[in-house]
Amino acid sequence: MSGWAGCQSVEMIGMRDALRALADLVVPRACAVCGELDVVVCEPCDLRIRASGGARRTLALPRDSVVVHSAVVSGPEILRLISLFKDTGRSDLAPYLGGLLRAVSATQEALNERRTHVEGRSAAEIVVTVPQSRRAYRRRGWDPAQVLARAAGYSLVNVLEVQARHVDQTTLSRDARWRNVSHTVRVSPDREDMVRGCAVTIVDDVVTTGATMAEVARALTVAGAGRVQGVTLASVVRASQQTHR
Ligand SMILES: [Zn+2]
Repeated sequence: MSGWAGCQSVEMIGMRDALRALADLVVPRACAVCGELDVVVCEPCDLRIRASGGARRTLALPRDSVVVHSAVVSGPEILRLISLFKDTGRSDLAPYLGGLLRAVSATQEALNERRTHVEGRSAAEIVVTVPQSRRAYRRRGWDPAQVLARAAGYSLVNVLEVQARHVDQTTLSRDARWRNVSHTVRVSPDREDMVRGCAVTIVDDVVTTGATMAEVARALTVAGAGRVQGVTLASVVRASQQTHR
């Protein structure tokens, strides 16, 4: 599919890493939040980022729901890090952000294992990332969610396709976001076997309205996935959404 180009992303990141290493020779490393020297994220900023604790939200699907677990409730520090990582090519932030994501994932995996033990059955587990729009891919030339998920230690499978109408969500209102992504993602017909009956974890950097995450979960459920859950770095919760956390 045209919106998906994992191998190109890896090449691009390799090049970015090389450029970053070169830049480190001449530009001293500094905390991406406060500017403290010689660290990527300093300890006080790390503590502030983690202070909010995690978030758990339930998103409604047409016939079901999907739970999304986030490492932190969004604050200015984590949103700054995500923006630097995604939009200014600060690839040196990937290990830090991956570590945050890994922490919430590990907690969730432990819960899933307990549930499997109680229910006495185990499904094959796969991990996917929320596919970005073609426009976002053209703008960046790489896929932040894939790099983030790999930094968290996930092995990814590419089973999703973006169909028409999915434009970058960041400029849209809450209602427009839901309309924009409705039925725009599907599992590639030749990959439905990889999804059917599986427990699927969907990874993304931020969950805001939940429209994109819910759309991906819907597409996976339609293709026959079993348990579906979302995992994100941050949850942006507006006052009107408090009841959905
Ligand atoms: Zn700092």
